[in-house]
Amino acid sequence: MLQRTLKNRISCTGVGLHTGVQVSLTLHPAAADTGIAFLRSDVAPGIARVQARWDRVRASVLCTSIGNEFGTSVMTIEHLMAAFAGCGIDNAIVELNGPEVPAMDGSAHPFVLLMECAGTIAQESPRRVLRVLRPVEVVDGDRRAALRPAHEFRIDFEIDFDGPSKGQGTSSGGVHQRRAFRGSASAFKEEIGRARTFGFAHEVEAMRAKGFARGGSLDNAVVVDGDKVLNAGGLRYDDEFVRHKILDCIGDLYLAGAPIVAHVIGLRSGHAVTHMLLRALFADKSAWRFEPVVSDIARETTPLAAAAVATA
Ligand SMILES: [Zn+2]
Repeated sequence: MLQRTLKNRISCTGVGLHTGVQVSLTLHPAAADTGIAFLRSDVAPGIARVQARWDRVRASVLCTSIGNEFGTSVMTIEHLMAAFAGCGIDNAIVELNGPEVPAMDGSAHPFVLLMECAGTIAQESPRRVLRVLRPVEVVDGDRRAALRPAHEFRIDFEIDFDGPSKGQGTSSGGVHQRRAFRGSASAFKEEIGRARTFGFAHEVEAMRAKGFARGGSLDNAVVVDGDKVLNAGGLRYDDEFVRHKILDCIGDLYLAGAPIVAHVIGLRSGHAVTHMLLRALFADKSAWRFEPVVSDIARETTPLAAAAVATA
């Protein structure tokens, strides 16, 4: 299993979900062992680069923001990171001329399409995975997340909240959704990648007052008002909410710096709890190990699937 990067560079433009700022974004190929790095073209070159890594997370309220030691930051990286994970891209430079990754349609799908358009190529260096060796769990009130040793990457996620009763598990009139996901490129694209971010109409004004959701609209988010979905087209999947939570989790976990071989469990978990989980994992040196992927059976598969092959 070799590392992969983009074959060509490719660009898009869009509005940041929280800042409302119009941003141009270009995905560039990068050398082996680069990982995913963001490059702000609107600040001085010496302070422009921010590595997408768990110890660079600066904020995790409503989105994931990373920053460097010079105070340069990039907001809302999680859907793009999920697309890199889902498409099996180890190395890329993300150039952008503003503070936030464009929201696009609120999912990872537009980024997946960009990466498919650009194509990917294998590089000289072997891919590595992060194997979880001991269980790690974090709890924050009624939210929790855990990593358990496993032979392949998989996620079990569960959420509940007051909201529209269409879809699964609706006995109480609210939303209760559970979903399991096992990784592969096609499964990510079909089951997870198109699930959009969501928010609640009654929270929009308060969020905007705090500087969030200023670029948010029905074009880039599912908006829930009481027991209704306001978007004209409705939901893309009956359980789009939990699918999006899995998407966020995959994107945030990719900040580990390699695909994780573990069983991931999330209960009402979000960005903050996932970052707490990564910090707890890396704080215990006996709980993890980076190791090369030795098999070449799944050369064309994603890191998610590579994680399964690594243990075969
Ligand atoms: Zn999200």
